[in-house]
Amino acid sequence: MVNYKKNFVKLEFSSLPENVALARVLIASLMAQVDFTLNDLEEIKVAVSEAVSNAIIHGYQNRNSGIVVIEAKLNKEILEIIIEDNGVGIENIEQAMTPTFSTDPDRMGLGFVFMKSFMDNVEVISEVGQGTKVILQKKLVDNGSCALMAT
Ligand code: ATP
Ligand code: MG
Repeated sequence: MVNYKKNFVKLEFSSLPENVALARVLIASLMAQVDFTLNDLEEIKVAVSEAVSNAIIHGYQNRNSGIVVIEAKLNKEILEIIIEDNGVGIENIEQAMTPTFSTDPDRMGLGFVFMKSFMDNVEVISEVGQGTKVILQKKLVDNGSCALMAT
């Protein structure tokens, strides 16, 4: 039985690539409080990693001086994760979310594809020069598994 509960966590960190791991640990620790599959956990961690990486790589253009904010809300069976940066923003959100589109020729343009396929809902709010907010939502399914603490 899923241990449905309400909880909220928020973490701010410097836009350093090594801090992607902090976001993963935060989400894994929160999700350890409810029971669902290792597969769900892995998929959500990939989606979060993609959004946080985007904030650092694109939002702050690999500068270390930016701040990334991640908030996660558990509201019974709904998990909502918000990843926010105050970076350059996205000019054309629809184009940015198109599979294989990237403003960097060396990248695959698959980050949003992973986010969309692993989460139930992905919303992007962005303004050029102001920053970007990515809202990821997932309905947690009762799979009768034990609480997990994988990071
Ligand atoms: P990959 O994720 O496969 O390494 P990518 O990051 O380019 O490549 P997506 O994650 O799908 O692909 O993002 C698509 C595009 O959206 C990026 O190339 C970038 O132009 C833009 N983008 C995404 N997130 C942000 C952000 N937080 N700030 C500014 N631009 C962003
Ligand atoms: Mg990406």
